[in-house]
Amino acid sequence: MGGDSSRWTQDKKLRSLNPLFRAKVGAVLARLRKRGFQPSVFYGWRSVAVQRELDRLRRTKVTFSSHNAQRKDGTANAYAADIVDARWGWAPAAKANGFWAALGEEAKAAGLVWGGSWATFPDLAHVPYHPNSPLAQVKRESGL
Ligand SMILES: [Zn+2]
Repeated sequence: MGGDSSRWTQDKKLRSLNPLFRAKVGAVLARLRKRGFQPSVFYGWRSVAVQRELDRLRRTKVTFSSHNAQRKDGTANAYAADIVDARWGWAPAAKANGFWAALGEEAKAAGLVWGGSWATFPDLAHVPYHPNSPLAQVKRESGL
């Protein structure tokens, strides 16, 4: 797998998620649609090469993320999804229309984590399956 996985179809992005995680993401998307939003997965799985490029552009703080997870045979098995409203993306209108707050509520209700609640580096669209490791959190809180 290569190329820019942000350009994949919604279906392919969803299939790139770990199955347990995918079920929860599906619930979050359904709840958001019920609330009148137009949720869209921007990134499901992405390659380590794309991750390094995002790091070079300073659009991420990590060189390996839950988006990069794969099975040993190379099949995408991501444990994070970036979810935006198709109308607004990351534009100020997303916040103004309450999309990020709704995403946080629904992610937590589904038992997932919401990156927008991270104090030092809020990552508004980022919904991972696992909390960040306690050590990583200690490191961040130490400003290191
Ligand atoms: Zn993300």
